[in-house]
Amino acid sequence: MMDPEFKLGMIFTSAKECKAAVKEYALRKQKKVKLVRNGKLRVKAVCKRGCPWVLYVSKYDGDAFQVKTYNKKHTCSKTYNNRNITSKILAQFMEELRINPNWPVSAMKQRIRKDLKLDVSTSQIYRAKKRAFLMIHGTDANRYSKLWDYCEELRRTNPGFTVVMEAPDHEELREPKPRFLRLYVCLEACKRGLLEGCRPFVGLDGCHIKGTHSGQLLTAIGIDPNHCLFPIAYAIVEIENKDSWEWFIGLGLIPALNELVPESEHRHCVRQESGIYQGSHVHMPLLQFMTENMNRKIYIAQYYKNESYQRAYEPLIQPMNGYKMWPRTGLPQVLPPHNYKLRN
Ligand SMILES: [Zn+2]
Repeated sequence: MMDPEFKLGMIFTSAKECKAAVKEYALRKQKKVKLVRNGKLRVKAVCKRGCPWVLYVSKYDGDAFQVKTYNKKHTCSKTYNNRNITSKILAQFMEELRINPNWPVSAMKQRIRKDLKLDVSTSQIYRAKKRAFLMIHGTDANRYSKLWDYCEELRRTNPGFTVVMEAPDHEELREPKPRFLRLYVCLEACKRGLLEGCRPFVGLDGCHIKGTHSGQLLTAIGIDPNHCLFPIAYAIVEIENKDSWEWFIGLGLIPALNELVPESEHRHCVRQESGIYQGSHVHMPLLQFMTENMNRKIYIAQYYKNESYQRAYEPLIQPMNGYKMWPRTGLPQVLPPHNYKLRN
């Protein structure tokens, strides 16, 4: 029964139908309506203590029941039965949340109002979304525990790439398992694309990661012959600082740069040194290197050529399997990082 409303004299085909309508009513109106008498001959439902709302239904004919008393006036405020509402939202929108995990709360609210005729609070939607993500992705512990297998699958599908994970030893931390600290990934196709077709330029930047755990994402990008960004490598680190940058650059970039232009020169971004950018997320060191005595005309022309573009995008990134098909490394599972923060 969609959006039930009771009326005096209303007939239900059975007591079961009447009780279901009361439950539906309580959920949709978000009222603490409950059955107090639930016999073979009569059904009575009341609201919160002090609220005059009452429904009295008694046997009419055969299995049918009829509303004998009904006071529809509530003086109580809304009560949120979160468990029921969450299940209701999930039952209806689970698939949509799976496809569109970034579905905005405001848009979701409107859809719930339209489709379920429910007026829910923002926190109820957050709760439902959180439950949906848990059901889709598993818990954080579950996801982090698969990281070694993830690395192995990357290695299997994209041979030649560099992946380095740092998870300090459990004995050192006096914990049952190693704990995740950093992860560096540089796909072979990206590295080769950079070496074969991109301009001899690498830009570095860091940003905060949204999600359950804080941490920062460091990225290295190149400039392709179309003057667009070309991803080279990325890392997830605990915080953006000198130590984590050195770790990131030292792992693969410096060797790659040396290979690209053997007599390269590393420079910091002029903007950073001039102090224009103060915020932590724009404090980007920028590496720039150019061969000495380079003819400017030749330099520009070469990196705008069609062949260079083709060469940059020739190496392919191979798709990987879903996690159920990843190889099992049997390595000790890693725990999520400590720096836990609440997700909205
Ligand atoms: Zn009430």
